Amino acid sequence: MTQKLHNRRKISKDFNVENYKKYLILAKKYKYNFISFLNFEKKKNLKNKSIILRHDIDIDLNFAEKFAKLENNLNIKSTFFVMTNNNLYNLYSKNSKKIIKKILSYGHHIGLHHDVSFYQNKNLKIIKKNIDKEIKFFYDVYSYKIRHVSFHKPEKFLLKKRIFNKNFMSVYNKEFIFDKNIRYITDSGGFWKEEPLKKILKNNQKKTIHLLIHPELWFFSNKKILNDRISNIIDYKGLLLHSLAEDEINSKEKKIVIYKHDKKNSSFI
Ligand SMILES: [Zn+2]
Repeated sequence: MTQKLHNRRKISKDFNVENYKKYLILAKKYKYNFISFLNFEKKKNLKNKSIILRHDIDIDLNFAEKFAKLENNLNIKSTFFVMTNNNLYNLYSKNSKKIIKKILSYGHHIGLHHDVSFYQNKNLKIIKKNIDKEIKFFYDVYSYKIRHVSFHKPEKFLLKKRIFNKNFMSVYNKEFIFDKNIRYITDSGGFWKEEPLKKILKNNQKKTIHLLIHPELWFFSNKKILNDRISNIIDYKGLLLHSLAEDEINSKEKKIVIYKHDKKNSSFI
């Protein structure tokens, strides 16, 4: 089955795992200090050149795990923002649990990637309540208290106000994005919107860089069109699902049940 996605936009040439690693090494060479959102918030360990490294996970956790490992090998810690209602991965599954625990074991942080459109309500009070609900869900499953929240495809109204309560803080709040001491860089859509990352790392002197990287966009670099790359990711997920289905269905017990049922009712299956 080959289902092509429609948009034919090209992805930046430098988007591949090897280059991602090179960028991290380059940042270290330029003496950047990788800090967490919490430390940035508390102005702890904040040096002249710092990077807050953020990952929003829109499609797949497996690639997130690969980046978590790669960063850990370079002694870099980042924050992975995950969704509780994503169509393509399920946080409340055995497989995701394994991955999230692994990411945490490397010393990375977890944030919430919140999709306001899931609830179809733009009332700020309700949005905050929904965020609290999702943070509680994550805590119930993982015993981990999320503090930072990023918005999936944020609408403008989410960027205009400071959104927080006693439990959480949006990383789209002014101080993380628009302040004069911070520079927000994103790989969204598979390209650098302003300057290439290499140039920014080299020329930046004082600002803290808030760097958003979507790990899945950096794999399957033989595909030059963004949506071809995403199609490959979906195919890869299909293969993984096959092996997970194998684990779930083809256990000894299940075979016996099917066999018994089959004997009783030949129209089964
Ligand atoms: Zn997103």
